[in-house]
Amino acid sequence: MRSLSGLPNRRQSLTGFTADGDEIWIIRSISQKLYKCQGCYGSIGVGDEHVVVQYIARAGGTEHSHWHQRCAEQILYPQSRSLRPVAAKESSRDRLEKRGKRPSGRRRRPRG
Ligand SMILES: [Zn+2]
Repeated sequence: MRSLSGLPNRRQSLTGFTADGDEIWIIRSISQKLYKCQGCYGSIGVGDEHVVVQYIARAGGTEHSHWHQRCAEQILYPQSRSLRPVAAKESSRDRLEKRGKRPSGRRRRPRG
């Protein structure tokens, strides 16, 4: 995991899967307002560099949360699977919203 340290940044985002098989996208962002970090519940101030974590559910639909980069590295990255860097343009809001509108029907279904 050490190679992911310092990511995401302006040029690169991260993508992978949650333990449940949903897509996860981790994107560097600057706060436009106050947020609460989902890792430590501390505040993320206006203008702070932090990360937006966007989930795209297997069944369609998206959800996002805001994290301190350090908290994401410590808590989220170890829980995620196949996390890898991608060019930041691949994680643009438009692209992720489009992906969220379609159920990922071609992917393997969960067992049971
Ligand atoms: Zn935090």
